[in-house]
Parts: sequence; C-alpha cells; structure tokens
Amino acid sequence: MPNNRAVTYQGPLKVEVDPIAYPEFELKDGPGVNPANVGRKIPHGAILKVVTTNICGSDQHMVRGRTTAPEGLVLGHEITGEVVEVGPGVEFVKVGDLCSVPFNISCGRCKNCKEGKTGICLNVNPDRPGSAYGYVDMGGWVGGQAEYVLVPYADWNLLVFPDYDQAMEKITDLTMLSDIFPTGFHGAYTAGVKTGSSVYVAGAGPVGIAAAVSAQLLGAGVVIVGDLNEERLAQARVLGCETVDVTKGDPRDQIEQLLGTPEVDCGVDAVGFEAHGHGGDAGNEAPATVLNSLMDIVAAGGSLGIPGLYVTGDPGAADDAAKVGSLSIRLGLGWAKSHSFYTGQCPVMKYNNGLMKAILHDKVHIGDAVNATVISLEDAPKGYAEFDSGVARKYVIDPHGVTGRIVAA
Ligand code: NAD
Ligand code: ZN
Ligand code: ZN
Repeated sequence: MPNNRAVTYQGPLKVEVDPIAYPEFELKDGPGVNPANVGRKIPHGAILKVVTTNICGSDQHMVRGRTTAPEGLVLGHEITGEVVEVGPGVEFVKVGDLCSVPFNISCGRCKNCKEGKTGICLNVNPDRPGSAYGYVDMGGWVGGQAEYVLVPYADWNLLVFPDYDQAMEKITDLTMLSDIFPTGFHGAYTAGVKTGSSVYVAGAGPVGIAAAVSAQLLGAGVVIVGDLNEERLAQARVLGCETVDVTKGDPRDQIEQLLGTPEVDCGVDAVGFEAHGHGGDAGNEAPATVLNSLMDIVAAGGSLGIPGLYVTGDPGAADDAAKVGSLSIRLGLGWAKSHSFYTGQCPVMKYNNGLMKAILHDKVHIGDAVNATVISLEDAPKGYAEFDSGVARKYVIDPHGVTGRIVAA
C-alpha cells in the first residue's frame, strides 16, 4: 500500500503537510468524522491518485478560524485525479480513468439527488443535508489535498474526461470543474444572466472571476466586478469586465457612472459572510453588506445568485447574532422589489459536463482567467498564506508532480 500525505488544519492560520492513512473502502474515525459515519462501508467507492487539488476561499474560512473545524482535519474538496482502485460495487468507472470530482458528495439515490440537487444529498451527512470532502460539519469525508483520496458512489460522482492526454494538456482549466467554474456559473445562471444582461458580481476572488467569465459565456452585455482588492480588480479588467472599487463607497454610484443607471439586471454574491463594509467601513467586516447592496442595485424583478458562503456558526464573528449566522438583512427591500434569492452549495454535476466541453473545445480559458498557479504539496502552507494575503491567483496543488507545471509558491 502506498504512503499517503495530506494538508491538515492545525488551528487558526496554521496548516501543515502530514502523513495520513491510505484510503480504504470504509470510512474510518478521524478529526471531524461524524460518529454516525464511522465504519461506513464504501463498496461503491474509487480510490484516486490526486493529479490536482485546489485551494479555495471556502478552505480559508476554516483556516482563518472562522468555523468550528477541528484541528487535524484533512483539507481539500477541489479534486481531480486518476482512478487507481475501484470497490466491488463500481460498475462503469475504470482504473486509469482521469476524472473531475464534484466537491459535493452525493449518493445518486435520494429524493434530492434524483432532482439534481446534489448539494443537499440526504444520505451522506448524518447531521444535515449536503456534504463535501475535507470540510467542517460535512460528514467527515477525508479531504483531497492529499496524494490519494476515496470518492464514494464513484459511478455517480465522477466526471470522466474523454481523453487522458488531451485532459492533461488542459489540466489547469479542467481542475476548476470540481468547484469554482460550476460555482461561478451557477451564480451567474441563477442570477438570470442572459444575452445582453447587465451584471454586477461582488467579489473578484476566484469564484467572482469564474462568475464573471460565466456571465460572459451566457452572453451578458456588461459585467461589472466589485472588490476592495486592486490587484484582483485589475485581473477582472484584463477579462473585459468593468470594475468597482468598494473602498470608494457603495457600488450604486459607480454603477451609475458606468451604465447611466444605478441598477443592474442580475447580481452575484461571490463574497459571503466575511464581507467587508463599503466606503469608510471597508476596513471592517460587515457580513450583511453584500446582500444588502445587491438588493439595492438589482432592478425590481431581478435575481440574486448567492454562491458566497454563509455559516451557521462563526466563532470569530463581531457580534453574538452573527456568531450563529444571524445577519441584519434588509429583506423588506428585496421583498418590495420581488427579488429571487438562490443560496447554497452549487450542484456541480448540473454544470460540469457542459463546462468541460466548453474547455475542451477552447470556448473558455478558465485556468488563465483565475491565474491558476501550480505548486507542490510541500508548498501548500505557503500557498494558503499567499492566497490569504489576497493575491490574484488560484493555487493548484500537484501532489505527485505529474503536471510538469509546478512553480515555487
Ligand atoms: P476569496 O476569499 O478569494 O474572495 C472573496 C473576495 O471578496 C476577496 O477578494 C475580498 O476582497 C472580496 N470582498 C470582501 N468584501 C467585499 C465587498 N463588500 N464587496 C466586494 N468584494 C468584497 O474567495 P473565493 O474562493 O473567490 O470564494 C468566494 C466565496 O464563495 C467564499 O465565501 C467561498 O466560501 C464561496 N464558495 C461557495 C461555493 C458554493 O458552492 N456555494 C463554492 C465555492 C466557494
Ligand atoms: Zn472550493
Ligand atoms: Zn443523495
């Protein structure tokens, strides 16, 4: 059995690379593993040799100590890998297949999965609907920022790339299919983006950039991206987006200067609960800022796509209400404007196959758009620290050095 190593959370702002057990077709006890999942048999699983695994803003919420993640948790939910072993219940996926793993773990058997709502599968997390690899309160499935990882319900979950060599050539694009590309697309799609739409995307991190690129794919007339990070806004401008610097005040006035009207058709929240305030408050966190500002600037009848994450427990929140995820949202405004809100995990499977084809046929270059930067497993702690500093990069870990694209972090 090969050795296995993984990135683990070791308390606020501390991650390290540690030896962990090689996966078996059974979920073992460990940090963050739900007791009701311990001993669960996984005959329908596949073991993957991880080819690429990305660091996500969602990981950073945990690493910044803003969740109840336990020390020792194995991180990583954005996984692309080669199948090296399949369980006895796997029928179609084969050893040697190169696959994208949707970050949501889903069973393919429950009512929600049957309706395509794979972000809220009823059978994988004993505590609540919805699950993911390497994530707090998600059932305890071991994370994939590792050399090897177990994927349950492999026939259902895995997206097999049609050609191994072609996929390796586009690996920095395809690695985004496990999360941020479908998530950004979901944000734009649920915001109702269509030909000619005007769109405001809050947040120019990797998810915001993916939402902006997706809005362009969907035919938006104009895409405006807002952030307080100038390096990230510059990246959005390279892609043909207009930008709004929220340190200069609410997006409303800057949008009016750009469009001649202060409102847009569609709004996307790619920020979440660690949102900063606007204008003079930009130095402070104000978790309801983006939701309230989207209600302000999205025209009546419009939709808000909200991939940005909101939590049920935030030990680092500024006030007691926010500690349990209770925010001061101006719902009356959204109600008066008949807004629709789309929250929750992106059901990756709904979009990943189509977006894969868009990548393989050169319709979109999402790896370049988010500045994919491939690093070694050893450099993962540096990658976390640099991503946290706000660089305009998406870090991609190549644990076995098989992409030939590793640069120093
Ligand atoms: P990130 O932290 O890199 O980016 C967030 C950006 O928001 C930062 O650049 C920050 O400067 C900016 N920001 C903060 N306050 C702002 C404000 N008021 N207005 C505009 N911008 C502001 O994170 P990311 O990797 O891009 O992910 C974005 C969010 O999406 C996170 O909350 C993440 O957890 C979430 N996410 C959700 C899903 C899903 O399925 N729903 C999947 C992946 C990520
Ligand atoms: Zn992610
Ligand atoms: Zn299910």
